[in-house]
Amino acid sequence: MMEEIRSLEDLLDLQHEDSEIDRLLDRRGSLPELEAYKKAHRELATLDSKIASLSGRLRDMELAVDKAEGELKLGEAKLEREERRLFAGGLSAKEAEHLRREVDMLRRQNSEAETTILELMDSREITQGEVDHHRADRDAIAAERGRLDDLIQIEWKQIDGAIARHEARKRELAPLIAEDLMEMYEQLRPIKQGVAVGRLAEGICGGCHLALSAAEQLQVLKSEPPRCLHCRRILVPQ
Ligand SMILES: [Zn+2]
Repeated sequence: MMEEIRSLEDLLDLQHEDSEIDRLLDRRGSLPELEAYKKAHRELATLDSKIASLSGRLRDMELAVDKAEGELKLGEAKLEREERRLFAGGLSAKEAEHLRREVDMLRRQNSEAETTILELMDSREITQGEVDHHRADRDAIAAERGRLDDLIQIEWKQIDGAIARHEARKRELAPLIAEDLMEMYEQLRPIKQGVAVGRLAEGICGGCHLALSAAEQLQVLKSEPPRCLHCRRILVPQ
């Protein structure tokens, strides 16, 4: 009987180690920095896609400016040629009139092209400003994400160290516990919210915290191992 009790006490110690490990694992997965890290990560992804789409628009604008400038250059060359022909004289009145109209039209076209180019350059400048703004935000958030990552790594390292110490203690305890008792413990733990064994103190089950009457306690203590009548957890008498 003494040996049995010893085994049950060790089982309760083991339960304590397992509960601590569960608590540490839970903390490992629910650090407040983790939520902030995920948020920063999502924000970075959003900014990256905004920057990519704006950069695409910028490239299109560059091409449009280049094209318009090329066309303007051609238009200016043509205007110069036609003006030279007009001023050289030697044309009939009808030819001169026709050429003057042609020159006027070319001047109008070139002037419109210049306006278009200026407008394109303005939009390009605005878009470039947006890209710069997003990049600055991106850099700040990336730095924050890096800072959070460092914090998380430090906390995880501490938690993992603590878990390793509890695991070592478990390895010491395990050989002290009867095999069938250990088997029952391992079967119960997953279906009992991680708590398979509790102290029976002052008639209260340490697992479900429900009371057992004096008669019920006697009945419990007679069974091998003692188990709570309410929750079926293993009970360790005081
Ligand atoms: Zn119980």
